[in-house]
Amino acid sequence: MDSFMMNYISGFGINSVICGANEDFYFLDNRCLIRSFHASPTLLSRRKEDASLGLKISERGKVLNKGKFSKRKKEAKPPVETPYLPPKLKRGAKSSSDKTIEIFEGMTIVELAKRCGESIATVQHIIVNVGEKIDSEFDPLSIDIAELVAMEIGVNVCRLHSDDGAHVLGRSPVVTVMGHVDHGKTSLLDALRQTSLAAKEAGGITQHLGAFVVGMQSGASITFLDTPGHAAFSAMRARGAAVTDIVVLVVAADDGVMPQTLEAMSHAKAGNVPIVVAINKCDKPDANPERVKVQLAAEGLLLEEMGGDVQVVEVSAINEVGLDKLEDALLLQAELMDLKARVDGPAQAYVVEARLDKGRGPLATAIVKAGTLVCGQHVVVGAEWGRIRSIRDMARKVIAEARPAMPIEIEGLKGLPMAGDDIVVVESEERARMLSEGRKKKFEKDRLTKLEEERPKASEEEEEEDETKPERVEVPLIVKADVQGTVQAVTDAVKNLNSSQVFLKVIHAGVGPVSQSDIDMAQACGACIVGFNVRDPPSSIALAATQAKVKIKLHRVIYHLLEDIGNFIVEKAPGTLETQVAGEAQVLNIFELKGRSKSKGDDVKIAGCRVIDGRVTKSSTLRLLRSGEVVFEGSCASLKREKQDVEAVGKGNDCGLVIKDCFDFQVGDVIQCLVQVNRKPKFVSSESGAVRIEC
Ligand code: GDP
Repeated sequence: MDSFMMNYISGFGINSVICGANEDFYFLDNRCLIRSFHASPTLLSRRKEDASLGLKISERGKVLNKGKFSKRKKEAKPPVETPYLPPKLKRGAKSSSDKTIEIFEGMTIVELAKRCGESIATVQHIIVNVGEKIDSEFDPLSIDIAELVAMEIGVNVCRLHSDDGAHVLGRSPVVTVMGHVDHGKTSLLDALRQTSLAAKEAGGITQHLGAFVVGMQSGASITFLDTPGHAAFSAMRARGAAVTDIVVLVVAADDGVMPQTLEAMSHAKAGNVPIVVAINKCDKPDANPERVKVQLAAEGLLLEEMGGDVQVVEVSAINEVGLDKLEDALLLQAELMDLKARVDGPAQAYVVEARLDKGRGPLATAIVKAGTLVCGQHVVVGAEWGRIRSIRDMARKVIAEARPAMPIEIEGLKGLPMAGDDIVVVESEERARMLSEGRKKKFEKDRLTKLEEERPKASEEEEEEDETKPERVEVPLIVKADVQGTVQAVTDAVKNLNSSQVFLKVIHAGVGPVSQSDIDMAQACGACIVGFNVRDPPSSIALAATQAKVKIKLHRVIYHLLEDIGNFIVEKAPGTLETQVAGEAQVLNIFELKGRSKSKGDDVKIAGCRVIDGRVTKSSTLRLLRSGEVVFEGSCASLKREKQDVEAVGKGNDCGLVIKDCFDFQVGDVIQCLVQVNRKPKFVSSESGAVRIEC
């Protein structure tokens, strides 16, 4: 018996008989604003006690403010669609209800009931509850009351405004700049802003306010939406395209068509918005505008010089070359479109950006799409309301009223609206409050419904995929950003990182720096706070966050923010358990220990092995392979080296192995050492700036 054998046998003990020994070894149409209101039918029956919408209801369902609303002209006809109908908005609180009805000023109860698919009695019942007087079902209704009724019934509304008898005049185009990251959208907007009316009045000094107007020598003007352009902001751009008449598609002459160029083309196409191409960076030595044109044509864009109708302008944003040509092209495109809007009557306007001013309160940059917005009017803006205290143009000059295509800043709202919200003029403060409260309640309800709808879906998917997958971990987040539009964009971008293992739940999103109440909420919910483009919190808040063990992540570059959140998700993810081979050993000899006493147990077969790869550990499961086939799998009963019990044996070393209940070793077999490894998801980013979590 050689010393190799003797070491193991003597290690295992007694009465040894050696059996066998062998020395051999061996990886839109977006034409109408869809309000997302729906209600459960139970609301309809909650007549008496329901003050849910802030509606005045007496104990017996009597009208409390009887006589307050004047009767309107009877038999109003549906208006002809105006050229300026609001866009379909992608709201976070989108209802699960798909039904959308068109409502208009003066529609009858019968008409409304028919469109809602409800009985006349039900509609009358709701109208009484909202405090309106009814004489007959042919009574004309205010458009606001019609919205409240639809909201209660649970259908979305699209407000139509009549052009009947109104002055319809030509208006300026509203333009959005889109394109791939780094192709020069911001530079182009900066250069164009320098030529804006506001810049001219302010001696070239301009500020990002969400929109600006460029005046031409001819007296014509163009309104530009001043929106950010990273991939993460695609939701905002989609909205931008929806309120936009023309898209300027920026393509860098030295880079050509890229993923976000195509994405921008899809947005424009979906919104039925024509494109004017601006080939930028034409000053660069390696600029190749012709190549860009061929690429665009290959993507189906019918360029003018190839017989189509899409104009192409070669520019250099940095050198401010070609900007006049671009503006001319936009005006020509606008002329072809014959853009018109109703100028008189109540305004329809849309918020493009909103922010909180310390002294002036909520400020909203808006674009009037039709009608005239007048200072002093009561308005409902999304779910907020207010009385317009002042209207300013983009040069910050106070004006009394605003007409179509004019970007303006309005002051006097009670809360901060969202980018994309519609501005509706209502007749009184009471009506404004009523609509606002009703909308808020519905948004919240829709938000919760949507959350509920999302959750089971996720778990079903998981079940189908793999039953052993871990539970999804919910990570609460609070999002703070500089302006409302960015709040939405960051929220949407962050949600895109949701994976099968981690569900990011935005419990609060708002404008402004991180505040004490954010810290309090974060502490209560175990949330992390994400701040984008916001001031560093004062030391008292930072200290409070540290004491409350609340993490604050502040960023100014969206990609950095997403990378940070991505890594945070990876850290929070439970991971998936995977079996990996940690080491392999080859059986060189087999030793059998027979005739052991009862107290010491049964016979034992020992595999005398050499570790040929990795490590073999005693705590692991061992798998016996013969000619590549699995023969046995079990736990390690004993692992010895040089007579000593050991926990692990590394590559190149000999050892004696006993697998529990395994008596079938053969010389030449391979024993694999299996370990359970927790594989975490990965944060992956592509060259285009797109990011995702890979599980
Ligand atoms: P965005 O991501 O599309 O908004 O692109 P930016 O406006 O931030 O521009 C990206 C980079 O391209 C910046 O370094 C700009 O200075 C540069 N850039 C933009 N326009 C031009 C141009 O016309 N010529 C040259 N040479 N560089 C430009």
